[in-house]
Parts: sequence; C-alpha cells; structure tokens
Amino acid sequence: MERYDVVVVGVGGMGSAALYHLARRGKRVLGLERFDLGHELGSSHGHTRIIRQAYFEHPSYVPLVLRAYELWRELETEAGEQLLVITGAVEGGPRIYEGALRSSLEHDLPHESIDGAEAGRRFPGFRLPPELELVWQPDGGFVLPERCIVAHVNGALARGAVVRARERVLEWSEGENGVRVRTDRGATVEAERLVLTAGAFSQHVARLPPGMVVAQRQVLAWLQPLRPELFAPDRFPVFNVAVEEGHLYGFPVYGVPGFKLGFYDHDGERGPDPDAISREVSLSDEEPVRRFAERYFPDGAGPTLALKSCLFELSPDEHFLVDRHPETELAVVGAGFSGHGFKFCPVVGEILADLALDGDTQHDIGFLRFSRFLARR
Ligand SMILES: Cc1cc2nc3c(=O)[nH]c(=O)nc-3n(C[C@H](O)[C@H](O)[C@H](O)COP(=O)(O)OP(=O)(O)OC[C@H]3O[C@@H](n4cnc5c(N)ncnc54)[C@H](O)[C@@H]3O)c2cc1C
Repeated sequence: MERYDVVVVGVGGMGSAALYHLARRGKRVLGLERFDLGHELGSSHGHTRIIRQAYFEHPSYVPLVLRAYELWRELETEAGEQLLVITGAVEGGPRIYEGALRSSLEHDLPHESIDGAEAGRRFPGFRLPPELELVWQPDGGFVLPERCIVAHVNGALARGAVVRARERVLEWSEGENGVRVRTDRGATVEAERLVLTAGAFSQHVARLPPGMVVAQRQVLAWLQPLRPELFAPDRFPVFNVAVEEGHLYGFPVYGVPGFKLGFYDHDGERGPDPDAISREVSLSDEEPVRRFAERYFPDGAGPTLALKSCLFELSPDEHFLVDRHPETELAVVGAGFSGHGFKFCPVVGEILADLALDGDTQHDIGFLRFSRFLARR
C-alpha cells in the first residue's frame, strides 16, 4: 500500500502552504485536491487578498501576521516573483476603527488616525463620509492568491512532494498503521499523520463537531474606473470600511482590469455543504456593490468588467480553527478561516506542520484552538 509521512487533504491556500512546510522539513508528503489546482469553487480565487497588520478582529493575530509577512517575502525570493504588494491600508467605521487602533497600540505598529475627509485628500479615488474615523496603516496591501498557491505547490514539488488533483478524499480512518485515506480514484493511502485543510468543505471532510464550519456565498465585482489614474496601486490603498450599507473592502486595479470590491458581510446563501450553494452570479448580486461604489468611489464606478462568487468558511465566532483534531491525535485541522485567512497561509502552513510532526507549536494559537468550543476528550 502507498505510504507517506503526511497526507494533506485539500490543496488550496492553506493546504499548499502546509505541503510546502512539511516538504521543507524533509517529510514524504502527499497532497490530494478534489478539483484542479487553482480552481474557482473554493475560497482562494479572485486575484487579490488584503493583508494588514493592525488586526481589528483580535490583537492576538498580529504576531501571526508579522510572521506571515516574513514567510511571504521568503517565498517570493524562492519563487522569483512578487506575491505581496504594499499599497497601505485604510480601515475604519464602527468596530473596525477601535479594533485596528487597539492592535496598533498594543503591538506598536506604524499607523495614523485620519478621517474620511483626509483619506479623500490623500487618495482622490476615495469619497468616504468626511467624519468617518479611519486608521491608516502604511504596511497594508495585498497578496496574489493564485500565484501564492502555485509558489507553495512548486516549492513542495521541488522537495519531493507528490500532489494529485481531481482526486477527492471520500473518507479517512485511524488504524494500527496510522491514518488510512480512501479516494474516488479507488486509491487507499496510509500515513503517519493527516492534515485536513478542506476550506469551506471542512465540516464534512474533516468530520468536525456540528456547526464548526459553515460555507457562505460571497460576490466580488470588478468595475472599470472612469478615472483609471486614481485607482492605480501607488495612488489607491486597499480598504476595509463599515458604513451605512455594511462592511465593504476593495483593491486598486492590479493584474486584471477593474477596481475590485465586495461586501464583507454579504448576506449570502449559507450551509454546511458547499455543493448545495449556487456559484452563479446575477444582476441582483451586482446592484448593492455598484450602489456602494457610486456613492463612495464615484470615479471607480464605470461599467462592470467581472462578477464572481466565492465561499467564506465561517467558524462560530469567525476566528480560525487551527489545532489537533478534537477526536484523534493523528489528524490536524486548519479550517474556519471566516473570510480573512488568506494573508496567514504561510504561517498557518508552518503551524500545521508543527502540530502534525511535533504535536504542538511555538506560535501562540490558544485563541484558535477547538477548546474554546469543546472540552477535549
Ligand atoms: C470573496 C472573498 C474575499 C476574501 N478576502 C480576503 C482578504 O482580503 N484577505 C484575506 O486574508 N482573506 C480573504 N478571504 C479569505 C481567504 O481567501 C480564505 O480564508 C482562504 O482562501 C481559505 O483557504 P483554505 O485553504 O481554507 O480554502 P481553499 O483555498 O478553498 O482550499 C480548500 C481546498 O480543499 C479542497 N477539498 C475540499 N474537499 C476535498 C476533498 N474531499 N478531497 C480533496 N480536496 C478537497 C477544495 O477543493 C479546495 O481546493 C476572502 C475569501 C473570499 C471568499
């Protein structure tokens, strides 16, 4: 029977990073991916993902994101291409402003409090409410998710990893020889350890306790700027703002045509089974995003160039689930990234490798463990 040190289930953002870190430690590792490598049915497509240090969601993410910046830079050097683009970040509105300020102060991060009027003076593409309280973070920017997955996979392959796409894991079990994985190509594979990184599919694939990961449909839009010079990466930072219409985020034009934006709290269809969620997009998806763009970024609100759906993978408290599996020592889980995980891929990959090989990690992940919901057996 085929045997590996570690099998990684799901080769998206997190799984590709886990494969890379395991391979870097000399392990014999297999990655199994249900769809193509780099597909549009999960959570890691759409060209850009915001990265930012002043983490409004919780200050405990800051050391992790700082490590992620280091690892992204290392990966760029190895891959010989740019994966991280610094534009600065503008974030604010209720909850976001207080949270970003708290993380900035607790971790002594470069930042400045500004308001909407000042943001408009510095970045003329912005027309936010003049009194909106904002934090400016010079180190914010975006990473390129499709290229990041390729770089992690290539780095893993170069160190001897095996990756098989279009091979879906049907079930896994614990046995005398470690874990046994069965796939839809009729293969049975054994390994010492299993890394479960199935994204929005995690509830079922990782056999998690009920309600741990819910998939939610999200929609992204790319609009043709009417004044393109105002939406270039050197004049238009990434943003994350809570206004009357909701919490929205956006990016300068980069890589593909169009000013990209989306609702963070888009009230999309949700459920534990992503296969039951429609990925089609329609005019009713576009309308609220367009209204927001017309009001706050009027020079960006030209014709629609693209609309795509994507899945969030929500945990009950919208913080990540990174831990040993609640029911077995032989599996580790990286899931529940709740719409804000991509920036952390390399550090999560490093942590999953630590947990799989050593049973623990030096990184402080107490706030991400299952114990906040469940008593460990
Ligand atoms: C619209 C949108 C905007 C976002 N914006 C940001 C942002 O600005 N900044 C940020 O940091 N994060 C952002 N995120 C969140 C971030 O993209 C996700 O947290 C991250 O991509 C999750 O990675 P993942 O590896 O868990 O999931 P995925 O990359 O989806 O990987 C999971 C993989 O598992 C595979 N799989 C599932 N079941 C099986 C099986 N049975 N067998 C084999 N393989 C299987 C899937 O096919 C998939 O490839 C956003 C997400 C969305 C949807």
